[in-house]
Amino acid sequence: MSYDQENIFAKILRGEIPCDKVYEDEHALAFHDITPQAPVHILVIPKGDYVSMADFTASAPAELIAGFFRAVGEVARAQGLEQPGYRLLANAGADAHQEVPHLHIHIFGGKKLGPMLTR
Ligand code: 5GP
Repeated sequence: MSYDQENIFAKILRGEIPCDKVYEDEHALAFHDITPQAPVHILVIPKGDYVSMADFTASAPAELIAGFFRAVGEVARAQGLEQPGYRLLANAGADAHQEVPHLHIHIFGGKKLGPMLTR
């Protein structure tokens, strides 16, 4: 799947659409989800044109891959989620109901999250 430069997260990265930012470095941007599904619901996205985890891990430079995952861990730590715990989720493709075609990891926390999947 080719990268759509007009997807909503590309626009957020370019600063064309605002976001409620919680973290940014050279590799990643993290911001609150516009429709939170938990008391803490943050999205972390890599800086680069990557649709999915498969795309990212196959084509991104190693430094960006490392920096992106460090950012995910750092955001969870900074949000105070290490001890109560949290959940990471990355949807990819139609079966997973990926809505935005730019790789993103959801961070959920702030309550007991229950079983992993709802049926
Ligand atoms: P997906 O289903 O692709 O894994 O998740 C996309 C997420 O992006 C959804 O949770 C949705 O609420 C969020 N989202 C969609 N548009 C925007 C937006 O313009 N700003 C922010 N902050 N989140 C968005």
